[in-house]
Amino acid sequence: MKKYKVGIYWLRNDLRLHDNETLHRAIAECETILPVFCLEPMQYRMLDMGFRKTGIHRFRFLAACLNNLKENLREKESDLLLLSGEPAIVLPELVKKYKAEKVYTQKEIASEETTVEAAVAKNLTKQKVDLELVWGKTLYHLDDIPYKPAEIPLTSKAFRINTTKATKPRPLFPVPETIPTVKLREWGTLPTATEIGFAEIEQAEPTQEIYQGGETAALKRLQYYTFDSELLTSYKWTRNRSLGMDYSSKFSPWMAYGCLSPRKIYHIVKDYEQSVKKNISTWWLVFEVVWRDFFKFQGLRFGNLMFAKGGIRQRKTDWKYDQDLFQRWKNGNTGVPFLDAHLKELNQTGFMSNRGRVNAASFLARDYQIDWRWGAAWFENRLLDYDVCSNWMNWNTQATEIWYTNPVHQAMKYDKKGEYTLTWLPELANLPVPLFHAPWLLGTADLKKYGVENYAPPVEIYKKWTRSINNIKKATDALEVA
Ligand code: FAD
Repeated sequence: MKKYKVGIYWLRNDLRLHDNETLHRAIAECETILPVFCLEPMQYRMLDMGFRKTGIHRFRFLAACLNNLKENLREKESDLLLLSGEPAIVLPELVKKYKAEKVYTQKEIASEETTVEAAVAKNLTKQKVDLELVWGKTLYHLDDIPYKPAEIPLTSKAFRINTTKATKPRPLFPVPETIPTVKLREWGTLPTATEIGFAEIEQAEPTQEIYQGGETAALKRLQYYTFDSELLTSYKWTRNRSLGMDYSSKFSPWMAYGCLSPRKIYHIVKDYEQSVKKNISTWWLVFEVVWRDFFKFQGLRFGNLMFAKGGIRQRKTDWKYDQDLFQRWKNGNTGVPFLDAHLKELNQTGFMSNRGRVNAASFLARDYQIDWRWGAAWFENRLLDYDVCSNWMNWNTQATEIWYTNPVHQAMKYDKKGEYTLTWLPELANLPVPLFHAPWLLGTADLKKYGVENYAPPVEIYKKWTRSINNIKKATDALEVA
């Protein structure tokens, strides 16, 4: 005999059937459940900076994740109710309509999401219904780590060493055989991009949709990156590249919407270590997933300081608010090809490599000295893998914590032959190697000769770049260098 007749499973960033504790709880306690996703229009609001909180790429990716989840639920004789509105209004209405006795959801971390949770819980209390918040976003369970949230260490190293000594990731929850579900006649649809408010010009943005949303594609990618291609074996040596799909796992877009569980990755890596290869690369992939955990737990510790001007360490910096510089950066017109290529890729695909993100964030905050929160907001709009803690905490780190990253040096280190840069800036392809990393070194006549006179130079050539620029000059023998 189950505890409740009807329960509602409110899905947010947990769009999967595998390793889903919230789903398991709901099925274990309720005779029938109603899976529901509620699109929140506020996620698409226009920000003061003149762009939306969530951009069109991520909306389309989410829609694909939801479609796939719907298909997968249907195979289990279930379905997904799609609604739009404020969860604090929509969920109590559903509770009333279907006489639900409990609502389940995966616990979020950052304030906007937890405020929504609190508003839902408050309204449900009036109906004498509980909202159960289930932890499920991390590799290590909150209850297993050797720290209380307020004591999460400041360095990832301390967090990782003590956590991995103290505990292990929990086993996986299996995909349920069947999901007894409330039968509805209508299961709703997502609002269209137009209904959400995306203007025609936003909908017509040039795009390259490289990632297919949903759990099915996520599990396929996991299988491909590990057992099928064995790319995992060389991850440590390829992970800092930027070109193509295979230099890193590319799990992040699916992880952000919960289509892929971090524990699933961990257990697959452990199987791989047993049956294919155990080396520094297999260790390193898990190490990166632990970084992700670290930022989530730090988000839990620092709350809204994550979004503060001085970051979690409350540094005092006089940021600039120069719209012209910001637009250059945002549109990939900084004049530094290595940066521009990454920013253009982000704009067209919704993805940028970790190397690109480090460089782009450091340049905006350290060279342009623009308030890093503008950049973090732009990444939030663009990135398919946008995740509150991963994005805002990584930006914190780049802007307020770690050393400066020199983009000219990095271009020469990670893309000496320009394979990546020229993919996104083919107009620079006629320039000799490696001058395409510093075209501003050419005089007007040479710029014309190579057909790159329209590529805008940087607004400032920073002193910190001098050594790297000299290396480019030395490596360029064919030209009259200005
Ligand atoms: P892999 O190198 O294959 O790593 C495997 C997984 O480990 C990733 O999928 C991701 O879940 C995790 N991971 C790796 N590096 C990091 C990291 N530095 N921080 C947190 N998790 C990590 N990652 C996001 O998932 N969402 C974001 O919004 C986000 N914003 C970022 C903003 C900046 C300024 C920077 C510097 C990094 C940001 N990252 C973010 C981290 C990292 O760049 C991406 O996770 C990574 O590039 C995704 O590619 P991948 O899946 O191939 O990573």
